[in-house]
Amino acid sequence: MESMNTLLFERLMRDTVQSDSGCWEWQRCKNPAGYGRVGLRGHDWIAHRLMWFCWHESDPGEAYVLHTCDNPACINPDHLFLGTQADNISDMCAKGRQHTAYSSETLNRIQQWWTPERRAAKGELYLARVRKQHNEAALAAGVPTEHKRCPSCEQWLPREAYHLNARRFDGLCSYCKSCRAVRHKAQYHSHG
Ligand SMILES: [Zn+2]
Ligand SMILES: [Zn+2]
Repeated sequence: MESMNTLLFERLMRDTVQSDSGCWEWQRCKNPAGYGRVGLRGHDWIAHRLMWFCWHESDPGEAYVLHTCDNPACINPDHLFLGTQADNISDMCAKGRQHTAYSSETLNRIQQWWTPERRAAKGELYLARVRKQHNEAALAAGVPTEHKRCPSCEQWLPREAYHLNARRFDGLCSYCKSCRAVRHKAQYHSHG
């Protein structure tokens, strides 16, 4: 049985691309602050708040839904937490922050909603969709499903062409080895 929240989750995932950092980046409309926008039932919604709602099956209400990753377009529920406006302001002021202090009330609320079962079920749903999209794309490109497309050079390459990354659903980095080397070099130089 598919609940409304499951359908909403699926819809949000359709317009999301997972980045190397694990962010689920919203690909469609964004507001001036960089937050994803979703048109639903004649209203404008903020994508990461909608994700919070359907993941936790709980309305954030007056609370702010904040990012641990400082990426406003990200809707990965692992990167979202509830906070007050004061949290929001200190969050925006904090630079280079790794962790944000949660109030115990917020923590309780998160733990209460975010059971391992719920997390696993939503994770499986996400993986199933990603795998299906991958297999369809490989089929359309006429390559074996073991191949993976590098978004930088746009080539379908065998698994050996990618470094391993245990945090990713397929266990591989998103860019192929040579594109990754070029990107890392560029990043190194841009930091002086
Ligand atoms: Zn993120
Ligand atoms: Zn590449």
